[in-house]
Amino acid sequence: MNTLITNIGELVTNAPAGGDEPGRERGGFAAVNNAALIMDDERIAWTGPAAAAPAADQRVDADGRAVLPGFVDSHAHLVFAGERGAEFAARMAGLPYSAGGIRSTVAATRAASDAQLLGNLRRLAEEMLAQGITTFECKSGYGLTVADEARSVALAAELTPEVTYLGAHVVPPEFESDPAGYVELTCGPMLAACAPHARWVDVFCERGAFDGEQARAILAAGRSAGLEPRVHANQLGHGPGVQVAVESGAASADHCTYLSDADVAALAASGTVATLLPGVEFSTRQPYPDARRLLEAGVTVAIATDCNPGSCFTSSMPFCIALAVRDMRMTTQEAVWSATRGGALALRRDDVGHLAVGARADVVMLNAPTHAYLAYRPGVPQVAAVWRGGSLVA
Ligand SMILES: [Zn+2]
Repeated sequence: MNTLITNIGELVTNAPAGGDEPGRERGGFAAVNNAALIMDDERIAWTGPAAAAPAADQRVDADGRAVLPGFVDSHAHLVFAGERGAEFAARMAGLPYSAGGIRSTVAATRAASDAQLLGNLRRLAEEMLAQGITTFECKSGYGLTVADEARSVALAAELTPEVTYLGAHVVPPEFESDPAGYVELTCGPMLAACAPHARWVDVFCERGAFDGEQARAILAAGRSAGLEPRVHANQLGHGPGVQVAVESGAASADHCTYLSDADVAALAASGTVATLLPGVEFSTRQPYPDARRLLEAGVTVAIATDCNPGSCFTSSMPFCIALAVRDMRMTTQEAVWSATRGGALALRRDDVGHLAVGARADVVMLNAPTHAYLAYRPGVPQVAAVWRGGSLVA
């Protein structure tokens, strides 16, 4: 059974240019006007001009609207209970953001049942899907005991293959006087309990969380348990996070708000993607990362939501694209590429984030004629339809 989508006003394919080393591909936004595509089961089977499209079992008329690859959200924290609306309101009234707020979510998460956590996770995943996110990464990090981290990654694995063990999110209150003991726990029994359910290991390398030496130890332990590294780096100030990420061969250094010239050069020379999370700066009223500096240096840039109950509670990639364009001075093409192909590279995935023949048929149709409307009409629901693996899901 194959499906033709035709009369596409603008088809964003991001078809990877041949010969690029994976993880080093940059700025490959590509689009075709008056286009069509064919999905054959789970894969893209054909793209090209609508006038040349072959026949198919099923036909969808896009009526001049834009079609894009499904968004790839490479950074989200969806396994948690409770909410922090009052903390957000207080921050907007002038209180600063600090890593310590994570602990209130930890208490609520530990007290929640598996069913409550899974229900919350499913609701957020559905929100994401309705806004065009067809692949998402999901971190643990609000349990911070062996049992609570293990169930967090196991629950996340029910909904996505991109599960990240983030036992090293923050030192929990019961280890306040023994942070070294907590690092040992995260590198030992907690890692052993989580590794079977996870693909990635992550660490919050920041003042108030984990320092460079601790982060290196945690990533090395994760790697020896078969997990691939990614790092929360340089969000709240300058620090070793980006260098640790590059040294450890991390797929992604996330946040990248405070970077030295050496950090930018290290990213540019590496296969590590810089994942920018503009919803966080919006929601914490902090300065945005300098996307142009990264792009001009040749760094591969992804955009992700960082959906979490504390620093950024949005599940909307279109909103993050609008912020990236308006407030980080990315072009509309760069922002859409970073939210699709960039996110895929941050997850080391070649099958998503683009619509070349053979890609997974993760497809978003907008109620708009071009991708630019995602930033041009901020806050307006514009996702008309979503296919994942060739099935209409939203
Ligand atoms: Zn995060």
